[in-house]
Amino acid sequence: MHNLLDMVAGYINLPKGLIVNNPATGKKITTVKDYTDTETHQHIEEAEKAFKLWSNKTAKDRASILRKWYQLVLDHTEELAQIITAECGKPLFEARGEVAYAASFIEWFAEEGKRLYGDVIPSHAAGKRILVLKQPIGVVVAITPWNFPLAMITRKVAPALAAGCTVLVKPAEATPLSALALEVLGKKAGLPDHVLKVITTTEPARIGSIFTSHPIIRKITFTGSTAVGKLLMQQSASTVKKVSMELGGNAPFIVFNDADIDAAVAGAMVSKYRNAGQTCVCANRFFIHEDVHSEFIEKFSKAINALKVGNGADDGVEIGPVINEVAMQKIDALVKGAKTSGAKVVVGGQKHHAGENYYTPTLITDVTMDMAITNSEIFGPVATVIKFRDEDEVIRMANDTPYGLAAYFYSRDLGRVWRVAEALEYGIIGINEGIISTEVAPFGGIKQSGIGREGSKYGIEDYTEIKYCLMGGLNS
Ligand code: ADP
Repeated sequence: MHNLLDMVAGYINLPKGLIVNNPATGKKITTVKDYTDTETHQHIEEAEKAFKLWSNKTAKDRASILRKWYQLVLDHTEELAQIITAECGKPLFEARGEVAYAASFIEWFAEEGKRLYGDVIPSHAAGKRILVLKQPIGVVVAITPWNFPLAMITRKVAPALAAGCTVLVKPAEATPLSALALEVLGKKAGLPDHVLKVITTTEPARIGSIFTSHPIIRKITFTGSTAVGKLLMQQSASTVKKVSMELGGNAPFIVFNDADIDAAVAGAMVSKYRNAGQTCVCANRFFIHEDVHSEFIEKFSKAINALKVGNGADDGVEIGPVINEVAMQKIDALVKGAKTSGAKVVVGGQKHHAGENYYTPTLITDVTMDMAITNSEIFGPVATVIKFRDEDEVIRMANDTPYGLAAYFYSRDLGRVWRVAEALEYGIIGINEGIISTEVAPFGGIKQSGIGREGSKYGIEDYTEIKYCLMGGLNS
């Protein structure tokens, strides 16, 4: 068996630097570089030089390198999955799934890059022609979270590179190893120097402000909390950068009385408990119709009770640790607060004996709209249930949040399916489906959940500028 860190051997074990821990054991894995301001400035300048070369390649040449990168990522599934599990804690089977998901964006955008068509617009005057070009925006900075340490990078970097941009990636402090492994494979695939560079740091605010104020950086693409997203938008205003923001959510999961309850329970399990509840599209509030409430709760509790909790590296584990102690405290405080306010714990409701960072998969009923747990992104394995009576009421409650990323509902009534899908103020709607992520569809939120879309044919547009050329003097 290979050593899990062989791939990133050149980047680790530095005497001083950013310490990477395994959330399953609390033990240190290794240290990586802590970039200084001067080094960061140098890399920005190098990325600008590299942009001139990279953007001048044909889309086909870029695609051929991206395709090699895609294949290398897949060929290293096992090593990458082990790195993801070690630094982020998710079970190995989920980590393998993430590698495939991450690779899918590279393959998809290798193709899309070849189809960044411009336009010829019918002219407004004789002797003139109107051309529209789509050009790469320039040097891009991607700031990414720890919950999908590989896929959140490829979802941004692949379209940027395919369009002809160069990219600096600042991964989350908890999960720099996946990012570095991706950079190593990119180089192996033939990405020229400085086209993709990972900048690791113990001080994201310091490095972040260099990026947001630097005139060379033309775009900031971010996935993370709404608070940091707002800060980055404010900072980027000083140089009027284009921004894409994929921020927090507060996803409703609605089960109507005409739903297939078994399907709804299966959807609820994957939507809520994937990655121990730590995804921005995880169901955060379950709204269950009063007619099917007891049946749903009974079946849902049974499925939750069967979940195996433990170190994600161990066989058969379905729920790993949460990322760190701060996350643990937040989850625990939200559950305690809900109990004090009258909610009923049906399953779990406390920390898990597997270790410091483990929370027992939990189900709480009798939750109300005014509780803190209803209005916060729980980011842990805790499902909260609110009972409802009619469609208008549930739509009002579902939309009663500043967030608008993902929403889910289960119904077999065709009229209701259209009404509800159109009324929910969310960027992504799962209808009789609990998993919505795929590289072929546009992912993104409305309201305070974000700006821009990732994946699909729309996901490359954010990395381009439209240039209008009016060509005259054609009549003589
Ligand atoms: P989470 O709560 O999921 O950790 P954050 O929004 O804090 O979400 O982190 C997401 C990413 O944003 C990480 O890469 C983190 O290092 C980075 N980050 C956090 N604060 C700042 C900041 N002030 N400026 C730039 N990046 C930041």
